[in-house]
Amino acid sequence: MNLSLLNPQQRAAVQHTEGPLLLLAGAGSGKTRVITSRIAYLLQELNVPAEHILAVTFTNKASREMQERVRAQVGAKACKGAIISTFHSLGMRILREHIERLGYKKNFSIYAAGDQRAKIRELVNASAHGGKGFEPDQIQWKISEAKNKLVPPERLRTRSNNPNELLLTDVYTRYQQVLRAYNAVDFDDILMLTVQLLTEHTDLRDHYRQRFRYLMVDEYQDTNTAQYRLLQLLCDAGGNLCVVGDDDQSIYGWRGAEPENILDFEKDFPAARLIKLEQNYRSSGTILNAANAVIKHNRQRKDKALWTAVGSGPLIDYLRCEDDEDEARTIVERIHGERFKRKCAYSDFAILYRTNAQSRAFEEQLRYENIPYVLIGGQQFFDRKEVRDVLAYLQLIDNTRNEVALLRILNYPKRGIGESSVEKLIRASAERGCPLWEVLTGDGLPALVGERCANALGEFIALQQRFGERFGHKVSLTDTLRALLKELRLEEEIHGAATDRAQALKRCENIAEVINAMAAYEEREGQISLADFLEKVSLGDRDEPRPSDKESKLKQDAVVLMSLHSSKGLEFPIVFLAGLEEDFLPHKKTISDDLDVDEERRLCYVGITRAQRQLILTNTLRRKKYGKFEERIPSRFLEEIPAELLNEVSSETPPESTEEEKNKLANDFFSGIQGLLD
Ligand code: ATP
Ligand code: MG
Repeated sequence: MNLSLLNPQQRAAVQHTEGPLLLLAGAGSGKTRVITSRIAYLLQELNVPAEHILAVTFTNKASREMQERVRAQVGAKACKGAIISTFHSLGMRILREHIERLGYKKNFSIYAAGDQRAKIRELVNASAHGGKGFEPDQIQWKISEAKNKLVPPERLRTRSNNPNELLLTDVYTRYQQVLRAYNAVDFDDILMLTVQLLTEHTDLRDHYRQRFRYLMVDEYQDTNTAQYRLLQLLCDAGGNLCVVGDDDQSIYGWRGAEPENILDFEKDFPAARLIKLEQNYRSSGTILNAANAVIKHNRQRKDKALWTAVGSGPLIDYLRCEDDEDEARTIVERIHGERFKRKCAYSDFAILYRTNAQSRAFEEQLRYENIPYVLIGGQQFFDRKEVRDVLAYLQLIDNTRNEVALLRILNYPKRGIGESSVEKLIRASAERGCPLWEVLTGDGLPALVGERCANALGEFIALQQRFGERFGHKVSLTDTLRALLKELRLEEEIHGAATDRAQALKRCENIAEVINAMAAYEEREGQISLADFLEKVSLGDRDEPRPSDKESKLKQDAVVLMSLHSSKGLEFPIVFLAGLEEDFLPHKKTISDDLDVDEERRLCYVGITRAQRQLILTNTLRRKKYGKFEERIPSRFLEEIPAELLNEVSSETPPESTEEEKNKLANDFFSGIQGLLD
């Protein structure tokens, strides 16, 4: 392999393959490149078998990007067997093989966030502890926090007599019991159970230590306790663990990340070698100066001197807009303008924002202008009712113990199974101490719910079993799903129940999109099982599909929309950092709870450093809240960017086009028309 594509420090990091290594460096300095080159080096130069290699990162998009970079360097065949994935997919892989040792069945389900919310609400309402201080959402949050810190319910219990704490431990305890009864795990369990498994079963721990001889972790600054512990289980203190990260980009403190993990690495791994990288290869000088100027305001940080050899590049545009619609319009106009000025693809643009709700205005405008886009990390699609209905059928086929799914679709579409029958079934299941599915498939149904209802249930069970078999065959999942939906006649049900035709059509389109999403997975990954598909959906490996975006050609060339949190590790030639206002960035929760804004500033730093060629900052004078306009204040972080790096433009005075640009616009317009006529 060609090591001359790396600078001396990067090369040293790539060649330091034995023993622990810490690579601590600023944004865009080639940390991820070191990881991918290291994998290539291990495979090609040291002939390490691929299955000894494990590289983990945080988001699906980042892990896919890493896989692609490695594939491009060594070819798909050479890296087959190496695991390059997120922490959660790694956990899933281990649990899928060994979860039986923890008393779960192999075909366990992942409990979706929406179902989790509903169940916790139900448990809070049913609890005898009337803690008034905690809302169900807070309890959900605290359970998640406990799991990320590896605190099981029994360890929380002993601590206090405070009614809120008692409510929390009670709900947490019962929530875990419910999950176990449903043979399900939630997102946070994936890590907690993997740690438990490898802690309690040292033979498994040793097995994985033997298997993963070379471990690499990207974005190490964002590891939480569970992830950190998992790494320690997979690797002893002298092991070949290479971690890379940047303390200035630690943005998951609110979710339990412990930035100390990276700062204390040398304590945990005394034999560790430390390498620093200081040259930035991503951004123009102007962008880098702005980023350095902002992050300098954080007090606790390891000082770094990032520099770049490329020129300063254009100034950073700062666009003041009237309101959110104007902001969306301004950005979209700018995209059109840039595409006319120079040959750039839609995928050269990213629009980044602090909160997911901000994406709506951009989506509308992009759709209106017929610009292809992908929304990364938007959960909304798979959380829609009609989509969850379809998924519930698939989940139940995959795991008959998934009672949330079962209850969701038992009478959907309507098949004459009334509320009171459902109650009787649930009661029978509790009295007999057996899963609901066994009540449905056991004897005595007509006596329990009446002849007619028992027949309807019989048909429902038969349908599930028939499709269970079909999904088990090695045929296209997508074809089987199509057949299932046809038989269910969901579309007719939706149209029949709807008062608004347009909305019904939209719902049907969303159902069709589930088929498209499944087809896309099959196309990308070859033969996958139903469990694989459901796992990918539940682990959030999903880019929001969009109805008019069916041609894969378009999919590859699309403007990217995502939150600042999901943008970590990625880069784009032209970046819009939208909504730079107080209450967005820094986020209002940080301001109102008087928390340290340092993490928000790091988020801003992450956003700025995603840009390669050009950075455009936007904000608005006012935004609508509950139907009324509210004045907005520019983000305090804007003031931290030296004025000489900024070019402030108000949206009322659009920049004049030059004569040359006008001619080009006219030419493009006519050639476009000509294209249509041809
Ligand atoms: P982040 O902190 O944002 O995750 P990073 O440190 O992981 O950034 P990379 O994404 O690996 O940085 O690299 C940033 C860009 O610089 C990439 O486009 C990469 O290909 C390029 N790059 C890195 N090292 C070199 C090099 N030695 N020569 C040329 N380009 C390089
Ligand atoms: Mg990186």
